Amino acid sequence: MSTTSPRIVIAGGGLAGLSLALALKQAMGDSLDVVMCDPALRRDPHGDKRAYAIAAAARRMLEALHVWDKVAPGAQPMLDMVITDSRLQDPVRPTFLTFSGDVGEGEPFAHMVTAGDLTAALIEACTAAGVSLKAQGVRGFTAAAGHVDVLLADGEAALPAALLVAADGARSKLREQAGIGWISWPYRQSGIVATIAHERDHEGRAVEHFLPSGPFAILPLKSETLPDGTVKHRSSIVWSERSENVPALLESDPEHLLVELERRFGLQLGKVAFETTPQAFPLSFGVARTFVGDRIALLGDAAHVIHPIAGQGLNLGLHDAASLAQVIADAMRLGQDPGGADVLEAYERARRADITAMGLMTDGLNRLFSNDLLPVRLIRDLGLGLVDRMPGLKRFFIREAAGLTNRDAPRLLKGEAL
Ligand SMILES: Cc1cc2nc3c(=O)[nH]c(=O)nc-3n(C[C@H](O)[C@H](O)[C@H](O)COP(=O)(O)OP(=O)(O)OC[C@H]3O[C@@H](n4cnc5c(N)ncnc54)[C@H](O)[C@@H]3O)c2cc1C
Repeated sequence: MSTTSPRIVIAGGGLAGLSLALALKQAMGDSLDVVMCDPALRRDPHGDKRAYAIAAAARRMLEALHVWDKVAPGAQPMLDMVITDSRLQDPVRPTFLTFSGDVGEGEPFAHMVTAGDLTAALIEACTAAGVSLKAQGVRGFTAAAGHVDVLLADGEAALPAALLVAADGARSKLREQAGIGWISWPYRQSGIVATIAHERDHEGRAVEHFLPSGPFAILPLKSETLPDGTVKHRSSIVWSERSENVPALLESDPEHLLVELERRFGLQLGKVAFETTPQAFPLSFGVARTFVGDRIALLGDAAHVIHPIAGQGLNLGLHDAASLAQVIADAMRLGQDPGGADVLEAYERARRADITAMGLMTDGLNRLFSNDLLPVRLIRDLGLGLVDRMPGLKRFFIREAAGLTNRDAPRLLKGEAL
């Protein structure tokens, strides 16, 4: 171990891992050595064309970390939301529920941000803060007395650390190596993701069509003004579809795929076209039996994977980062070991209930809406209609989606410094 400052190694430079690295380094400065390892750090972050809904609480965290300013010019506020429930062949998709999207004066409940912009801003901020970025994977670790030896992919000598954070995604090898169980089930659905160009302005409206094969979400992206002055309007889609239909759909000729898109997207925004090649992600639920082990903590998708129906997976991962950074910073300020059992138990306690609740809620919503049983449809549409007439309840739901209902939220999610 270093005689000067303790070290934390984060394996996985996705958005959750990078946010943790930045939060820790900004808060602890030279008193903590933060090492981030991921072979993907070699790639151009802008190559990732996916986009995410970032809830208001996560945006406040990015503001507190001084990265939101970099991302804001390309971020699209979600100003309202419309929910419909119909069968694919229905000629119209009647609106059952609408939400106006403000959670406070001029503060939208969420923004759409591209993964490329956010990753690039976090990497730049990590570099400026002094995080040591290594473009290589972690291939294993050995817990030793009072520390953990982290083995890097290039065979360098083991890196001793007080704590290893596994932020290595849903198929985490490090979680497996730590012997931490994974409770999971498949949804037999895939999420098809693409950017869609359309003729008319979306006006900041997000739309979710509940269809029997799964939810079809249209999420507004920032419009782009081209050099000739024309404005390009765009949205991101998350098209949940039964997995068995997906290969034929994606391999079909482009015209057929466009017709299938139009059947779901509708023509309210005029003519549509694919701007990026659609990519499919198999959807599943998964949660680790524990989020911590001996000198190891799981973060983001390595700890939990949920259905994208409510666009909350990454938001949960950012919440993990805010909570873990806080318990580590608080412990270090009291002179405690950042990888000690008390710190890790505090992290587990802080995250377990929220993750379980969100996992079950998204699982339940998907089961309730992804079917075509008439009695279930009648009951759920009655429920949606009732909620639509209850402004207080709608305000609660929108604050919940924004991540603002939890009074015990970590400081970063309230926009406060760590
Ligand atoms: C279709 C779809 C739509 C979604 N939409 C939203 C949304 O709108 N809003 C939202 O909040 N969430 C959304 N999500 C969820 C979101 O994509 C994930 O929760 C989030 O990207 C997970 O981030 P992460 O940093 O935990 O993991 P990842 O992004 O998976 O990053 C893991 C990283 O670990 C690296 N790695 C792997 N193994 C190693 C190793 N051994 N050593 C070092 N590095 C390693 C990988 O290279 C990778 O960079 C969506 C998910 C899907 C499938």
